[in-house]
Amino acid sequence: MNPRNCSSFFKKFIWKVQKALSQSDVQWKSDKTPVTVADYGSQAIVSFVLERELSDEPVSLVAEEDSGDLCKDSGKDTLQRITKLVNETIAIDGSYSACTLSPEDILTAIDSGKSEGGSFGRHWVLDPIDGTKGFVRGDQYAVALALLDNGKVVLGVLACPNLPLASIAGNVPSENAVGCLFYAKVGSGTFMQSLDGSSPVKVHVSDIGNSEDASFFEPFEKAHSLQDLTSSIARKLGVKAPPVRIDSQAKYGAISRGDGAIYMRFPRKGYRERIWDHAAGSIVVTEAGGVVIDAAGRPLDFSKGRLLDSDTGIIATNPKLMPSILKAVRESLEEKPSSR
Ligand code: AMP
Ligand code: MG
Repeated sequence: MNPRNCSSFFKKFIWKVQKALSQSDVQWKSDKTPVTVADYGSQAIVSFVLERELSDEPVSLVAEEDSGDLCKDSGKDTLQRITKLVNETIAIDGSYSACTLSPEDILTAIDSGKSEGGSFGRHWVLDPIDGTKGFVRGDQYAVALALLDNGKVVLGVLACPNLPLASIAGNVPSENAVGCLFYAKVGSGTFMQSLDGSSPVKVHVSDIGNSEDASFFEPFEKAHSLQDLTSSIARKLGVKAPPVRIDSQAKYGAISRGDGAIYMRFPRKGYRERIWDHAAGSIVVTEAGGVVIDAAGRPLDFSKGRLLDSDTGIIATNPKLMPSILKAVRESLEEKPSSR
């Protein structure tokens, strides 16, 4: 499947699910995070396409979802619905029109995402719907796919079906067209095109050097990052603009094209970040000239399995702003150690 077909194929699938989503399509996992038919369907499709397209090599896939709940009696209807959606979607692309997946094929495709990743070999890393809460609200979300080679991210693709093509700086998009695809290969820069397949344009992070002129992004969900801490950091930096709060790795996409200059994320103490929440987004930003590190100033380490080896927070920005941000982070953490 060529990239242009692939992105329009996904757009059709995801928008269709988003429009048709009903309350019964949203379930809650044991970690109290939501999952929808779109999360499962997206994982099944990406897994199916990777297996087909890379048939001459074993595919190792580290992905968020598993089939546990779908195998229960209570999951039967959901599995039927996912099977129908996936088959309708793969029929859109001529390359797979002869394939019809059974419910068992769907379970197998989802469960091929159980790889543990690690520091050797190649591993695909997938968040089938990143920002499921945003997806359910009709806000921002992303399909995020990355490739790890010996523990390093070498390729990243972020599909952001609800992200305006125009800058969202100041939260006010100047035009209505939405649907962005960002992709980055190590050493080759970051490109953005519309999900409809317009010509790609090379993107670059903001080159602002004075933090007073910067604006910052953070998660929409209060439970995902300590907003008191980020506002204290922003005050120290003299940031005047209010925070831009949106869901998912769409934040990394927006930072890569300079909509804002800083992305900060400080989960509550003890929360371990998942590699699929940052692998694609981090290379999209670094290949656009940015820097992505944890709050201790270390590069993100994707080589330790399904979890990131960091619980201190994540910062993405340009190289000019990073030193002053790290200083403000250190001071704020020292002032408010109890906040973490
Ligand atoms: P964002 O929209 O940037 O908050 O990112 C969404 C991701 O946050 C989801 O895919 C989850 O994996 C992750 N997440 C879930 N719970 C938490 C939590 N308590 N703290 C931080 N991140 C979380
Ligand atoms: Mg996620």
